[in-house]
Amino acid sequence: MDYPSQFDVIVIGGGHAGTEAALAAARMGCATLLLTHSVDTLGQMSCNPAIGGIGKSHLVREIDALGGAMAKATDQAGIQFRVLNNRKGPAVRATRAQADRVLYRNAIRAIIEAQHGLQVFQQAVDDLIVENNTVRGVVTQTGLRFKAPRVILTTGTFLGGKMHIGLTRSAGGRAGDPPANVLAERLRELPFRVERLKTGTPPRLDARSIDLDGLEKQWGDTPRPVMSFLGDRSEHPEQRCCWVAYTNERTHDIIRGGLDRSPLYTGVIEGEGPRYCPSVEDKVQRFADKTSHQVFVEPEGLTTNELYPNGISTSLSFDVQMDLVRSISGFENAHITRPGYAIEYDFFDPRDLFSSLETRCVSGLYFAGQINGTTGYEEAAAQGLLAGINAALAIREEAPWCPRRDEAYLGVLVDDLITMGTKEPYRMFTSRAEHRLLLREDNADLRLTEQGRKLGLVNDQRWDQFSKKRDLINIEQERLARTFVHPGSKAADSLGDKLNKPLSREYSYAELLKRPELDYADISALDSNGVDHEQAALQVSIQAKYAGYIDRQRDEIKRVQRYEGLSLPIDLDYEAVSGLSHEVRDKLITQKPETLGKASRIPGVTPAAISLLLVHMKRKQ
Ligand code: FAD
Repeated sequence: MDYPSQFDVIVIGGGHAGTEAALAAARMGCATLLLTHSVDTLGQMSCNPAIGGIGKSHLVREIDALGGAMAKATDQAGIQFRVLNNRKGPAVRATRAQADRVLYRNAIRAIIEAQHGLQVFQQAVDDLIVENNTVRGVVTQTGLRFKAPRVILTTGTFLGGKMHIGLTRSAGGRAGDPPANVLAERLRELPFRVERLKTGTPPRLDARSIDLDGLEKQWGDTPRPVMSFLGDRSEHPEQRCCWVAYTNERTHDIIRGGLDRSPLYTGVIEGEGPRYCPSVEDKVQRFADKTSHQVFVEPEGLTTNELYPNGISTSLSFDVQMDLVRSISGFENAHITRPGYAIEYDFFDPRDLFSSLETRCVSGLYFAGQINGTTGYEEAAAQGLLAGINAALAIREEAPWCPRRDEAYLGVLVDDLITMGTKEPYRMFTSRAEHRLLLREDNADLRLTEQGRKLGLVNDQRWDQFSKKRDLINIEQERLARTFVHPGSKAADSLGDKLNKPLSREYSYAELLKRPELDYADISALDSNGVDHEQAALQVSIQAKYAGYIDRQRDEIKRVQRYEGLSLPIDLDYEAVSGLSHEVRDKLITQKPETLGKASRIPGVTPAAISLLLVHMKRKQ
């Protein structure tokens, strides 16, 4: 046939993992084929139309620093931008954007279509060609055979996908899309460990039927954040308001009354759901003493009336969904445009992967995204990017690139998955990273863009902008270190109001910037030589203010290594250890490890949790 049938890299699935994987492989010079069910659903958001948030924006910025698409598409599609944790330290600050679902998809599709060396073909893949435990290519639903020495599988929630609304079940990869059952069966014949997970989504509402004036308003931030290091506010479309509503005791009674027809509570659903994004029925059961839960009411886009009520994901029967929605103040006349549902799907134990994301038992085959037990667009995209990079490196006969835990959240994500596996959908949090002061969202480019350039992922435009910013930071840091304010000078007087007492000696600008009362704007106002570059100025400021904490963190890492044999009392009150996640605390209470070293080897107990335990034990001594 005339259509090319031989490629370097084949990617199956055009979701968040698949699009980044295909783009990365093609950017690195590989002849790449992206095979997906529908070209129209490239970059489709299956659930919440939002990108970023705590832990997740760190991944988005890392993808961006390596030349990926997600942040750029978010800047073109974002209809509300906020920085979460803005009052907290820079390690946990996180940018989140509400996105127009259609604009996002269009932006991803435009980036894919502009990528040299990347072909897209719409067709379901039903089989893999595997010879001598090595992948050779794929076979589509209509029997077309495409060959490549590297194949990346990013099929999301589609393998054996089963959707539930109450006790009604149907097959599907997500609402409106078919499942990938033939491929799922074929994969089950290969020696992978397969299990089931579950996720869910809320019913969507027609804005015209909601009393929006009666709800709390929530606007985006001013100044408006941007997602990409190359981003510009002028790219952002029109900005929109979101709202906050609340469930109440009546809502909870309705939910409890519907549990006898809930697939979750009647044992119909076997797969474990996301702990940190539970269904509303789970919340009502788990937090029985709470009389209300927040519901963030978010527009689905600029050209639709549909609203996404974030916080009431449910798989209860449709009549119960109607009642529970209408019991919420402001939703009394709500018209549901799409019912909420849960979906169960196959995932593969990520402990069967190398850190390159190549599978251990089929050479040349990579898994990325939800198929590895994660949840979230950002986690999927990050893995896709890494799999694309490593498939391309293999084509070049070069060693894989696997970032370390202290280099990137991408390193934390992959290390967690392949060493500990997961029993529930894994999502990223800043608390999973033990080096989080080093791994901020604001410095992802400084951590990774040089590496991206070496790999061939970063184009000249990004490289030039990055180099300019890096040079400006260095020049400004040197200037701050060698420019001084003398006591009694005009400059010292101008700082007088901000400082508690007059300067007692000569101080460099760099020393002054470390003071909590002063920020970079105060220092740059002392003369006209400050850096006129928003991102560079932010870096200069953060690096000065947090230098001490970062050094201390490095020391703490060394100390943790020394405290391997520290005894943990059998009756240690883990509830009193501040900062531990529920997941880690549950595991420690169940297993009661004898030493810190033993605690560190319990799957799911992160190095960050070990640091918290160490601090707790030192305080008790
Ligand atoms: P997907 O985005 O699912 O993309 C898979 C792609 O592969 C699709 O394009 C599909 O058409 C294609 N494909 C599949 N099989 C084949 C085949 N055989 N041949 C060709 N193409 C194929 N995440 C959260 O963080 N929070 C949530 O609350 C949340 N709720 C969710 C609710 C629902 C109902 C669903 C479906 C998902 C939810 N998610 C949620 C998960 C989020 O959508 C995924 O984490 C993310 O989309 C995964 O990206 P991915 O690229 O791995 O897979």
